[in-house]
Amino acid sequence: MTPESSLRADIVEVGRRMYARAYTASNDGNISVRLGTDRLLMTPKSVCKGFMTPDMMCITDLDGKKLSGDRDPSSEMLMHLEVYRQRPDVQSVVHAHPPIATGFAVAGIPLNRAVLAEVLTTLGSIPIAEYATPSTSELPQAVRKYIKAHDGMLLANHGALTVGADVYAAYYKMETIEHFAKISFVARLLGNENLIAREEVERLQALRGTYGIKAPAPICPDPGALGDLIAGNDPASCQIVEAPAGGGSRLVPDSADRPAAILSRIEGAAGSATAGDEGEIRLTYRELTALIEDAIRSLR
Ligand SMILES: [Zn+2]
Repeated sequence: MTPESSLRADIVEVGRRMYARAYTASNDGNISVRLGTDRLLMTPKSVCKGFMTPDMMCITDLDGKKLSGDRDPSSEMLMHLEVYRQRPDVQSVVHAHPPIATGFAVAGIPLNRAVLAEVLTTLGSIPIAEYATPSTSELPQAVRKYIKAHDGMLLANHGALTVGADVYAAYYKMETIEHFAKISFVARLLGNENLIAREEVERLQALRGTYGIKAPAPICPDPGALGDLIAGNDPASCQIVEAPAGGGSRLVPDSADRPAAILSRIEGAAGSATAGDEGEIRLTYRELTALIEDAIRSLR
């Protein structure tokens, strides 16, 4: 088998797995790999990824000009080209619509909380690229903002995108995103999503080298009480992860509970004020921090 025929077979296999796992429906999704230094092998337009054959693939140059193939290249070719331009290290790009992760993308909830050690060491955070009309040049522009520092991202009201050192590596990241989304969804349904503390996140980040994981960028420094916006953390150069300081604990209670917990504390304090403590509201440093973070978030 030549290297090219082997890559064609790999794309067919990954397409079959994506369709089997319902990451795509109908003709959704697309897959590409680098073929040498100046060409790409890409899935064609309007084909179900579960029923492809090796001969269906297109070969294009890095500007998207079709060099061979009976069919036209993927309608999302512009997004793939942008990724290869921005990331010389990337050998393969996978795009799909895995339903749970896409649900987060529709809800506008990024998968950027420090919840699973495995995800923190591999993908880091999974941001949401702003909504863009599919197949237009808007989509590559939206992806450009995050692709230098992230190997996987959600696409607002659309789906997900992953990249890797080969087509299987890119596909496995898609599996990781959907798996993470499912776990996070269940934890939220159960009403509590404890977070891994910042100190532990930094420990996990240091382990990336030990595990031989090449992350595209480090996790952003802790913005503290001021929030990422004010602290100047930029998703183009580092990964923004929601991981509060643990103060010695490696897990931190669900931050989603914090505003409610703080409110009830304030209400409690106000209630007891009538009982004669001069209406003073006492907040711990963490509660105050959470209130400030919440206010900053609502301003964005
Ligand atoms: Zn799509």
